[in-house]
Formats: sequence, structure tokens, C-alpha cells
Amino acid sequence: MTTPRPGPRIGIGTDVHRLVEGVPMHLAGLAWPDEPAGLEGHSDGDVAAHAACDALLSAAGLGDLGSNFGTAEPEWAGASGAALLAETARRVRAAGWEIGNVAVQVIGNVPRLGPRRDEAATALSAAVGAPVSVSATTTDGLGLTGRGEGVAAIATALVVR
Ligand code: MG
Repeated sequence: MTTPRPGPRIGIGTDVHRLVEGVPMHLAGLAWPDEPAGLEGHSDGDVAAHAACDALLSAAGLGDLGSNFGTAEPEWAGASGAALLAETARRVRAAGWEIGNVAVQVIGNVPRLGPRRDEAATALSAAVGAPVSVSATTTDGLGLTGRGEGVAAIATALVVR
């Protein structure tokens, strides 16, 4: 065990949800009404918001989405990704951490994030109350995201005491 440090501390989070025809697409704090398929999940399936939550909780040493918003707190079942992210940021600050920034990368074929990247960053930044950058990539047709079976996201976060 190393000596506890005041920070900064980084965290990491990932999430994947299944892409299903006819389900409304919610991603990166935005609705995507023109998408024919959306992300299935107990909540709105917003993998970008969920990965950001896990990254923040990881950085602060506060567990993960499951331990914070699982079956012990049924009032959060079905909450939007943005609402979960705002509450996560509140809990991180309540534990004595300032949030430096969060970086999120979405991995998948749809939706095309580029045209709405700034809008997504603004929405997620508003939820966190700190800068959130959003990027996107594809996997050259490989894997579950390349085959269009789902969309994934990975995130990092930095917090300071
Ligand atoms: Mg999720």
C-alpha cells in the first residue's frame, strides 16, 4: 500500500450497450431522433455518459456505477445518462474532490458524432460541471461495434483534492 496522496488522480471507465432497431437513440447527452436503432439498457443506454460516470467514480475511489446506482438505489433505475452523470459529479465533489476534466471516446458505426461533437461536449460538460471532451472512432468493421451489434465508449477522468 502506498501513502495516500492528495491527488491529482485519474480514473477509467468503459461501457457497451446493444444496438436495437426501433429503440430511441440517446448518446453523449443528446437525443438522436433520426437514428433507426438505439441503445438498449435498463437506463437510456447512453454509453458515453455511463463511461464518464465510471471514470469519475474510479478517479475518486468511489466504486462504480453498479455499486452507486444498483439495486440498492432503485430510484435511479431508468435515469437518463445525463442525470446519472450529474449525480455522479455531485457525489465525487461531496467526497472532497474537484473535477479537473473528463475525456470520452465513443466507439461505433452510428450515430455519426462528428457533426454534433460540440453539442455533445456541451451537454456532458453541463452535467459534470467541468470540461468533458468527446471524440469518436470506428473499428474498421471488426468486433461487436464494427458489426453494428452495439456501441461502446471509454472514458478517463481527472480529479484533484
Ligand atoms: Mg451502461
